[in-house]
Amino acid sequence: LPDPEATALTGADMATMLPRPDAGSDKYSRGVVGVAAGSHEYTGAAVLAVGGAIRAGAGMVRYAGVAEPVAQVRARWSEAVITPLEPGEGVDRVGRVQAWVLGPGLGTGPESLAIARSVLASDVPVLVDADALTLAAQDRSLLRRAAPVLITPHAGELSRLLDVPRARIEARRLEHVRWAASELGVTVLLKGSTTLVAQEDRPVRVNLTGSPWLATGGTGDVLAGLAGALLAGGLSGYDAASCAAYLHGIAGRHGPLAAWDVLEAIPGMIRSLIDRRREGG
Ligand code: AMP
Ligand code: MG
Repeated sequence: LPDPEATALTGADMATMLPRPDAGSDKYSRGVVGVAAGSHEYTGAAVLAVGGAIRAGAGMVRYAGVAEPVAQVRARWSEAVITPLEPGEGVDRVGRVQAWVLGPGLGTGPESLAIARSVLASDVPVLVDADALTLAAQDRSLLRRAAPVLITPHAGELSRLLDVPRARIEARRLEHVRWAASELGVTVLLKGSTTLVAQEDRPVRVNLTGSPWLATGGTGDVLAGLAGALLAGGLSGYDAASCAAYLHGIAGRHGPLAAWDVLEAIPGMIRSLIDRRREGG
């Protein structure tokens, strides 16, 4: 590891952190995830983010979006509860959620901004990814809110957000992820060949489970949904990001793969880690 203060995530960490339903659980207590993603141009990101949350075992997933992604999400995920949004409308008509996933394929135009603003105005944790990070780079005050924020940038997205050249971030990832967490007051999951998770006053966690096969379109959208489900399930941003990075990495170990394969591998990964906890007592 590049830094003595950084700690590598292990399967044993997952076994203690991953939530597990019990006899008293119902779908609301297990976590309702809101997904605000997709646009006329990008429908697949919405399908993958919703799928990541569903396959991670969310109690319920509510999807809000414009007509095209709504049609795609509806066609693929009969489990999702869907609120079609009118152009320019926010998410105020969507029922109660415990955490939001905001940004994959959302677009950066005025309609997307209206959605982003309304999600960030809520009082629940929000995971901010992809196009919503581009919007936040244009107006950093979007990220200032009382409830927790988890951002999930790759180096390019973090570069725009911090206004630091990408090459400089790539050369000193640990330093920049730490700086971003304190500067922005958020939890940061920095994607790349290794994934770093930073939060002020906590050690940076390093995830080493990924493989280069993950470098393919849509895997980041699956990660966002997966982490969103863990957030809604009650994990802190720091723990949700850590577990999501670890699970996503092992789900993406063998390739060639499509983002859809990662999605389908998630339940088996969670099962084996939870079983490990049971065996360990
Ligand atoms: P995104 O950048 O949103 O498309 O997400 C890409 C996903 O693939 C992230 O989870 C990255 O951490 C992962 N990834 C990208 N490149 C690599 C790589 N070379 N090795 C391991 N994981 C990678
Ligand atoms: Mg992405």
